[in-house]
Amino acid sequence: MMRTDNPGLLRQTDLYGIASTSGPANEPNARSVAASAAAYSHSMTTRVLFAVCAISLLAQGVLMVVDPQATFASNVLIALEFLLAAAGCLSCASRQNAETRTLWILIASGLFLSIAGQIEATYAALQLNQPSTATVADFFFLIYGIPILLAISFTNGEADLRALFWLDGWQAIIAAVLIYFQIFLTLPWTGHPTAISATSLMYVYNAENFLLAGAVTLRLFGNPAPAKQRIYIALSIYLWSYAVVALIVGYFELARNIAQGLQDVFWGLPSLLMLAVLSFWQGKLRAADEIHKDSNRSIALLLDNLSPALFTLVIVIMGARIAPAYPWIGFTSIAIAVVLYGLRAALLQSKYLRSQHNLARSGRALVTAIDQLRDLSIRDGLTGIYNRRHFDEVLLSEWKRSIRTQKPLSLLLIDVDCFKELNDRYGHPEGDECLKKIAAQLLSILRRSSDTLARYGGEEFAAILPETNKESAQLIADAMRTSVEGLKIANEGSRAASVATVSIGVCSENALLSRPAEELLHAADAALYRAKKQGRNCVQFA
Ligand code: GH3
Ligand code: MG
Ligand code: MG
Repeated sequence: MMRTDNPGLLRQTDLYGIASTSGPANEPNARSVAASAAAYSHSMTTRVLFAVCAISLLAQGVLMVVDPQATFASNVLIALEFLLAAAGCLSCASRQNAETRTLWILIASGLFLSIAGQIEATYAALQLNQPSTATVADFFFLIYGIPILLAISFTNGEADLRALFWLDGWQAIIAAVLIYFQIFLTLPWTGHPTAISATSLMYVYNAENFLLAGAVTLRLFGNPAPAKQRIYIALSIYLWSYAVVALIVGYFELARNIAQGLQDVFWGLPSLLMLAVLSFWQGKLRAADEIHKDSNRSIALLLDNLSPALFTLVIVIMGARIAPAYPWIGFTSIAIAVVLYGLRAALLQSKYLRSQHNLARSGRALVTAIDQLRDLSIRDGLTGIYNRRHFDEVLLSEWKRSIRTQKPLSLLLIDVDCFKELNDRYGHPEGDECLKKIAAQLLSILRRSSDTLARYGGEEFAAILPETNKESAQLIADAMRTSVEGLKIANEGSRAASVATVSIGVCSENALLSRPAEELLHAADAALYRAKKQGRNCVQFA
C-alpha cells in the first residue's frame, strides 16, 4: 500500500531477484562422485529457488488484482524475490573456484544492497510523509550496481593480483560517493538535502541499468572461460530484462502517475529468468566450452583487458556531472580514478614484464636441458663415448658422404681379447674399469674432430675414420693396439698376453660404390674374426 511513488525505487528491487538463476550447476569437470553429488544438490537448490520465486510472483499478481492497495505485502514479496536471487548466487559461489566465487559473491552483494533498499523503501512507505524525490532507498538501489560492475570488470586470470581487486574496490567507493552526491546534490554537513528530481532520477536509473546490461554483454564477446561465461549469460539476462522492465514500468509510473499495482509483479521477472537459466539451461551453457576453444583470442584479450576501464569511465562521467555543483569533489574523483587506473595499468605492465622475463629464462633452461638430454641419448653410460645408436647414424651419413665425394672411408672394429677371462678372474667391476680405460685410450689416439669412436657392443668398440685411406687407418689401428697393450691392465687368464689387449679388424674403401653401409661393417667384422683366429692382439685388413 505504502510504497513510495518514486518509480526508481521500484525498478531497482527487481534487478536483485534475477541474479541467482544461471548455473554453473553442472560443471563438466565433476569427475568424482562427491562433485556430481554437489552438482545435483546445487541444481536442486536453484530449482527450489526458482519455484519459490515463481510462486511469489504469482501470489503478488493475485494480491494486486484482489487488492491493488496491498503494496506493503507486495513490497515484502519483491524483497523476497531479491533474496531468492541472492541465495541462487551464493549457491553458485559455494561450488566455484576462487575467481568465479568472487564474481558470484559480488553479484550477491549487489542483490543484498537492493534488499536493503527495498526494506528501506517499505519502511519509508509506512511513514505517511514520504519524500517526493530521492530517498535513502534510492541510494541503495543505485549502489547495487557497484559490486555488479566490479564483477563485470573483473579481468580473466587476475585472481593472483589481489592488489588490482583493491584498486577496483577504491574506485567502487568513489563511485558510491559520487552516486550520493548525484542523487542528493547537497553537501552532507548542510543538513538540507536538495534531492534530484523524479524525472532525473529515472534517467539515472535507466542509464545505470543499460550501462550494466551493455557492459556484461560486451564481456560475453570477450570469450570468457566457460564458468565465467555462465555467470555473464545469467547476469546479462537479469540485467537486460531488468533494464527493460524498469524502463517501461518507470515510464508508466512517471507519465501516467500509476505508482503501484499490478506492474510491481514485473520487478520479480528478471530474478525468475535468471533462476531459470541457473536451474534448467545447462546443455546450451556447456556447449560454450567448445566456443571457448577456437574463438578469436586477440579480440577476447582486448575486451578482457579493456573491461576494467569501464569503472574509470563511469567515475569520470559521474565526476563531470557533479563538477558544476561541486568542482572539488567532481575533479578529485576524476583525478583519483585516473591515478588508480594508471596504477592498475602499471601493475599489470610489471606483471607482464616479469612473466616475459621468467618465460625467457625458462626457455633458456629448456634449451639447455634439451641439449643435455640429446647428448645423454647418444652416449654410452659406462665409458662416456658415443653409443651404438649414434654409431649407426654416423656410419650411414659418412658412408653417403664418401660416395658423394669419392673420398676414402675407414672402419675399425676393436674387440678386447679374452675379456670373459678378465671378468672371471678379477670380477665385473674390474672389467668395467678396464673398459673405461681402454675407451679413453682409444679416444686419445683419434685426433681429427671428424673421427668417431663408439662402444659397439659389450667389449667391442668401433671407430669411423672419414677421408682416411688404408695406410693411415693401419697407422691408427697399430697405435690403438700397442697403446692398449701399453696400459698393462692385468689379464692373466688371456690366451694372447698377460695384459689386456685388443684385436682390430679394419676395412678401408678408397672408391666407394653405391652399396649398403653394412658391407663395410661385414668386411671389418670378417677381418676382426681373422685377427682372433690368428692369435689375437693384432690388426687384420678386409
Ligand atoms: P674373445 O677374445 O674371443 O673376444 O673372447 P672374449 O671373452 O673377449 O669374448 P666373449 O664374447 O666370450 O666375452 C665377452 C665378455 O664381455 C662377456 C661379457 O660378460 C663381458 N662384458 C660385456 N659387456 C660388459 C660390461 O659392460 N662390463 C663387463 N665387466 N663385462 C662385460
Ligand atoms: Mg666380443
Ligand atoms: Mg672379446
